[in-house]
Amino acid sequence: MDHNNIVLTIPEPGKVELVERPYPKIIPGYSLVEVEIAPICIEHQVYKEHRFEWHSDADNQGHEGVGTVREVAPGSKFKVGDRVVMYQGNPCQECFVCIRGLSPTHCMSIPYEALTETQDPSTVLEELGGGSAIDAPGGLKAIETACGSASGGFGFSRYRIAPDFMIQKLPDDLPFRYAALANCSIGCTYTALEEAGIRRDDWVVVAGVGFIGFGSIINAKYRGAKVIVLGRNPFRMAQAVKMGADHIVNPDDDDWLDQIHELTGPQKGADLVIEASGYPYYQKKALKAVRRFGWVWLYGFLVESGEPLPIDLLDEIHNRGVKLSGSHDVFISHREGLIRMLRNPEVQDMADHLITHEYNMSQAAEGFEAALSKRAGKIFLYPQENCPNPGLSPSLRALVADLDAASPR
Ligand SMILES: [Zn+2]
Ligand SMILES: [Zn+2]
Repeated sequence: MDHNNIVLTIPEPGKVELVERPYPKIIPGYSLVEVEIAPICIEHQVYKEHRFEWHSDADNQGHEGVGTVREVAPGSKFKVGDRVVMYQGNPCQECFVCIRGLSPTHCMSIPYEALTETQDPSTVLEELGGGSAIDAPGGLKAIETACGSASGGFGFSRYRIAPDFMIQKLPDDLPFRYAALANCSIGCTYTALEEAGIRRDDWVVVAGVGFIGFGSIINAKYRGAKVIVLGRNPFRMAQAVKMGADHIVNPDDDDWLDQIHELTGPQKGADLVIEASGYPYYQKKALKAVRRFGWVWLYGFLVESGEPLPIDLLDEIHNRGVKLSGSHDVFISHREGLIRMLRNPEVQDMADHLITHEYNMSQAAEGFEAALSKRAGKIFLYPQENCPNPGLSPSLRALVADLDAASPR
């Protein structure tokens, strides 16, 4: 067995370093997992600008992953050798959010309300007993603290510590490559479609498409819904069509809303609009594209546009009965249905278009650059340095060549 751990750090913008840390230690309630795939979520933004969410810093990055259990503590329901997906966070398991099977990144132990009262989330917060935001009880750093471990709380690690409450055993026939989508792409968006009760022949508009938007399209097609993508990026629109998007509407068209009304017929708008960009440009359109009593689900949030979410309460919410929500991850009560979905061969075919790049963790900078190029879907890192086919997915090379020929960059 290795006696160290390797973790990815982003010491300054545009720079990635793999550093050695002590091998993780676990206590009861936690398992030690050899990470097979650590997907990139929003870390390319950290790589670009060094702007952090409350739960991460330059030395601690990544929160998604799948792998194999290598060590369990006494009383664990898991066994060494179990293949698992790891969900994000360290929830209390006792608050109403946890008990009702809602989303663990909304556990009451995470002091979001206190965090929003400070301009700088890294500021020491009295509410946390003198710790800083990254030490909040529901965060990933708290996993290392609880275990007395000097590594392993975060996703971009060769070995990771996962709370048993946050790991789910994978069926033998579900490859890691598809299971890894149970985090922030097909996983978190499963919850919006499930909560909105989307069924066959419902209309779903996906606005501002990246890997969250792609995950939304796959969830909608899996349920037999009809999908309208509101977007402009030629690579992403081509990808969306390959995943089964039924219609593409250019949001710059003067008559974009008329096009949506024409498609959706008498109900005049979508049953569910997913907004995945965080930009007011798309948020405004999402509120217009939804039908009366429909749902708008907001995933995009990391944009510093300086503009607040523009809502006309009377015209856009009250008069129209619109339900507005947002969340970070898959509900605990949705995990079983999500894994069932990921075993579906048609979902896996669609997912092959969502997974655009794969790299060894030592090549992470290439992965971040690919994400920043906006010609990417979900990007996987392999912390064991065993990536089968590093780089752009072979099935996408032809598409990229065609786009380059049509409009050279
Ligand atoms: Zn994520
Ligand atoms: Zn909780």
